[in-house]
Amino acid sequence: MRCPACGNLEDRVVDSRAAEDGSSIRRRRQCERCNARFTTFERLDEVSTLVVKRDGRTAPFDRERIRSGVAAACKGSPVDEVTVDAIVARVVDRLSAFTSPVESAQIGALVLEELRRIDRVAAVRFASVYKAFSDPLDFEREVQLMSDDPGGTDGDGPGDGAGDGPDDPGAQESER
Ligand SMILES: [Zn+2]
Repeated sequence: MRCPACGNLEDRVVDSRAAEDGSSIRRRRQCERCNARFTTFERLDEVSTLVVKRDGRTAPFDRERIRSGVAAACKGSPVDEVTVDAIVARVVDRLSAFTSPVESAQIGALVLEELRRIDRVAAVRFASVYKAFSDPLDFEREVQLMSDDPGGTDGDGPGDGAGDGPDDPGAQESER
């Protein structure tokens, strides 16, 4: 890094500290020539992730788009702004494990997973608006999961293609 005081290119790192949320690293540097100290920040380059859209075109990853999608899906729900930001942050975080380019459907699936843990109605709304599913059947299954029961559906049903009809959740426990 070029020294802001003398323009020298040689420096050494004297301190290195991660931001609280782990989103960036702050490095304190010292010029090898004039000993001036300066600070650099290192953060994940989101723009370097490319997204392949459904029509085959490629575009740089756009965090704001994801955010507005999530926010729209959460409108009118109890999910607040802070939670929306947290969902987006988790998606971006998980996305960093993927190799660029990433299919837009993969990102949609990540958003959905995170959203579903918070608010199922918002998740289904997101899915319908942004067509995050590659297969419309997945969407129907999602809606079914939602309407099935308010209690203990643990997601991830095996899609064994058993034809029509949802799995019977079993007899209702109305008797005492
Ligand atoms: Zn210097």
